Amino acid sequence: MTTQTTTPDDQAAAAPARPARPARAPRPNGQWKVDGTTPLNHNEEFKQEGPPLEVRERIETIYARDGFDSIPGDDLHGRFRWWGLYTQRKPGIDGGRTATLEPHELEDRYFMLRVRTDGAALSPAALRVLGGISAEFGRGTADISDRQNIQYHWIEVEAMPEIWRRLDSVGLETTTACGDSPRPFLGSPVAGVAADEILDATDVISEIKRRFIGNPDLANLPRKFKTAISGHPSLDVAHEINDIALVGVVHPELGPGFDLWVGGGLSTAPRLGERLGAFVTPEQAPAVWEGVASVFRDYGYRRLRNKARLKFLLADWGAAKFRRVLQDEYLGYELADGPPPAPATRPGDHVGVHEQKDGRYYVGAAPVVGRVGGNTLSGLADLLEKVGADAARLTAHQKIVILGVPADRVDELVEGLEPLGLTARPSLFRRSTMACTGIAFCKLAIVDTKDTAARVIDELEERLADVTEQLDVPIALNVNGCPNSCARIQTADIGLKGQIITVDGEQMPGFQVHLGGSLAGTGQDAGGLGRTVRGLKVPATELSDYVDRVVRRFADQRSDGETFAA
Ligand code: SF4
Repeated sequence: MTTQTTTPDDQAAAAPARPARPARAPRPNGQWKVDGTTPLNHNEEFKQEGPPLEVRERIETIYARDGFDSIPGDDLHGRFRWWGLYTQRKPGIDGGRTATLEPHELEDRYFMLRVRTDGAALSPAALRVLGGISAEFGRGTADISDRQNIQYHWIEVEAMPEIWRRLDSVGLETTTACGDSPRPFLGSPVAGVAADEILDATDVISEIKRRFIGNPDLANLPRKFKTAISGHPSLDVAHEINDIALVGVVHPELGPGFDLWVGGGLSTAPRLGERLGAFVTPEQAPAVWEGVASVFRDYGYRRLRNKARLKFLLADWGAAKFRRVLQDEYLGYELADGPPPAPATRPGDHVGVHEQKDGRYYVGAAPVVGRVGGNTLSGLADLLEKVGADAARLTAHQKIVILGVPADRVDELVEGLEPLGLTARPSLFRRSTMACTGIAFCKLAIVDTKDTAARVIDELEERLADVTEQLDVPIALNVNGCPNSCARIQTADIGLKGQIITVDGEQMPGFQVHLGGSLAGTGQDAGGLGRTVRGLKVPATELSDYVDRVVRRFADQRSDGETFAA
């Protein structure tokens, strides 16, 4: 006897045909030009209900008078960010509780305040104002962030009108320093002074800022929008991890201008920016910047915040479509094709003493993981005046560059920096270690960063002195308090992501390790994101031991000129 079996395919073939279901309409993604402007989440709602920039008037007239308890939630946790204000973390809450507490339970009654510098030169008067704000209103705190901002802590809302008045007196501002808006720009710290620059982008940045920062038309974007603009051949503004970057190149017929990159960003879904293959003249740059920001405003995804950065739109569209939409719908003209940037000529942190094109010098100096404090800023103002230097700029590597130092005063300046906690002759690790805010003040943090990094630098300077003397390449160590990557986990030689780890059944602060990241974006060599070392979790207390082992192995095995990432 034989049995006949029927397969699911046979059964399906024998079944009477069902009428086809009508295709389901695609779910709206909150793209204004595609789906309309109806808000799809609370964040989008409050931005439309009350334009975020308008909160400044309420801060100055109501909240500064009536205090913290008078601030409603959508202003406190939403619109305040458009003026650089976030509530800071309540002291004493350990990182293991970060994910288990409600945001308001983690929150203190004080603020972190971010002041944007946009690559501008800070005069002694500006440094003195920045230092004074720290001393009077920020309990002495002031950090240089890796976006060339000054960040204060312990700020009370009552102080904001006076802080804004002082910043305004020296041309500084906090406008859209945070929030879903055009964030602070990165500019070359040596613009206008470096002998080897391709072009000075200072005027381009000023013009874009003048026209668009604080402009309500571009103050409600799907998420943050980061900009980097530099004409220096050291590729000194980490252009690959910005939403838009204009990178100095020389067009064979059109002369100096910019190569246009879009869609970079790190955080938990890192992606390096892409070249659109388009050349932008300095005259075109403001319109192109406005065009890219407008593409983001109109087509960016607003439904899910973790999919809202420009990088997700670029991933779906591709560079060719992005360029076509930019040209056809926003510029109304074609951009010329252009060359990619050449490989970086030297480190972009500008540490050390360098001759300027006018025969004077600029001097790059390293604090420890970006911590400067009010006394250092005020002391630096005095030192600049004493030696007859012009100004200082902050770098995208948490460093500071002093500009316009007369040749015969360079030694005096270099010596004068040391008592201020700045050095133009940093050890390898002091030079190339960065750390984010971490658990001291950040509500999202899981572990400490700045104190940990400072301790590790001290320990490694002692333990690895013999090895680092022979190493002629930097080794970037970036310490982050959580996966958000504010200090660029994935682009460091050794990137550290803070988390609570379990060792022998015991929970403790530690780090997941990413190795071999780099920023070297030229088009041919787009740099690369570091790889997670699977299964490796290093306790914070053993960080120096781990880095010691890795660096010794690298030093033993490397061939001449080989970098850590290669
Ligand atoms: Fe805070 Fe995390 Fe950013 Fe560090 S990486 S500043 S802990 S959000």
